[in-house]
Amino acid sequence: MGKEFRAQLRARFAEHHPGPPPKGRDARLAWQRAWCATAVDHGLAGPSWPREHGGMELAFEEQVVYAEEAARARVPGVPGTGVGIAGPTIIRYGTEEQKARLLRPMLRADVIWAQGYSEPDAGSDLPALRTTAVRVGGHYMVDGQKVWSSSADIADILFTLVRTGAPDSGRDGITYLLIDAHARGVTVRPLRDMTGDAGFCEIFFDGVEVPVENRIGEEHQGWGITRTSLGHERAAGALTQARFYDRIVRELAGLAAACGRDDEPLVRQRLAHFAGAQRIMTLNAGRMIATIVRDGEPGPASSTSRLFNTVFEQQLHEFAVDLLGPIGLLDRRDPDAVERGRWTRGFLRTRASTIGAGTAEIQRNTIAERVLGLPHD
Ligand SMILES: Cc1cc2nc3c(=O)[nH]c(=O)nc-3n(C[C@H](O)[C@H](O)[C@H](O)COP(=O)(O)OP(=O)(O)OC[C@H]3O[C@@H](n4cnc5c(N)ncnc54)[C@H](O)[C@@H]3O)c2cc1C
Repeated sequence: MGKEFRAQLRARFAEHHPGPPPKGRDARLAWQRAWCATAVDHGLAGPSWPREHGGMELAFEEQVVYAEEAARARVPGVPGTGVGIAGPTIIRYGTEEQKARLLRPMLRADVIWAQGYSEPDAGSDLPALRTTAVRVGGHYMVDGQKVWSSSADIADILFTLVRTGAPDSGRDGITYLLIDAHARGVTVRPLRDMTGDAGFCEIFFDGVEVPVENRIGEEHQGWGITRTSLGHERAAGALTQARFYDRIVRELAGLAAACGRDDEPLVRQRLAHFAGAQRIMTLNAGRMIATIVRDGEPGPASSTSRLFNTVFEQQLHEFAVDLLGPIGLLDRRDPDAVERGRWTRGFLRTRASTIGAGTAEIQRNTIAERVLGLPHD
């Protein structure tokens, strides 16, 4: 049964695969969107999502196979951050009307979503957020600022956390609100990062009217809603990441050979270290998956796995750039850059790995308090 499912999936991914990614940001986005629509139309998207909203509604073990085969086929990713984060939240907390209106267009990437949680003074300490939403009849009036919002410049809907309670209401005064990114009073400004790309943005809300129908869950209940179990997606994501790095570690060994350094004992030792660490990534993902199958939740392995993986990818790219020596300083704009500057870019990109989605320090706090039972920070 498992083998048959895998073989079918592999054949169907091959049949509908849109080919290699085109060059250029706009062309790449169009390629991703076209794939998402095709995948929904052929029942190849949303492994955990309900069928009535375009998903495949697979059993968890089948979702694991799906993650492996999608990584193997190298199908395009979904643009924006909605499908992995907002989607499961709406499936769990949305009204039937919201599910019918929002989910299928999100999965098809007809509508792109971006997350607006962080603010200039509310990142790790998210309950300190200050963007306000004041109820006026059938609308909320939203004022404030968000920052580091990935893909917000291509987004149509921003899923946000806003303050509806008193300024000092902390977690108890936060509401989950969907804001039209094209509404009057919304300004989105891309922020350039050290890779030269502008992957994330700052967002300003100036008297933005948001219909009450765009609230997910009850007023003031947003904090609990964001803490909804995303563990299944995280576990599948960890497995996809482990598969991805299986290939990257091999390519790193190829780089060492191309540099003529693969017979140096210290280089070989480091390559062996990364090969071993990649196996640990796979095993950690497997542990999470086994715990989900047994208990329904991924358990403490999810924070240890995330910390391990983010530190791993930073160290791997540091080593790649060291291997290259001075030429490793050249980025993709330079014709002499090795492999079009991919290792240098990876080195710069992974600086952010231990910041986004919770910093390494916050992961360590979580492990100390929730896994090891040490006193609260
Ligand atoms: C690539 C990337 C993509 C992102 N995408 C999004 C997005 O789409 N949407 C969104 O809303 N946000 C996004 N973020 C923002 C991200 O969630 C925040 O950057 C992160 O939560 C840290 O918040 P901060 O930047 O305000 O740093 P701060 O919270 O100010 O932290 C500064 C430093 O202090 C440390 N620190 C803070 N509190 C503690 C503590 N209690 N114990 C120990 N150390 C502590 C931190 O570890 C860090 O080193 C993204 C960030 C990155 C890098």
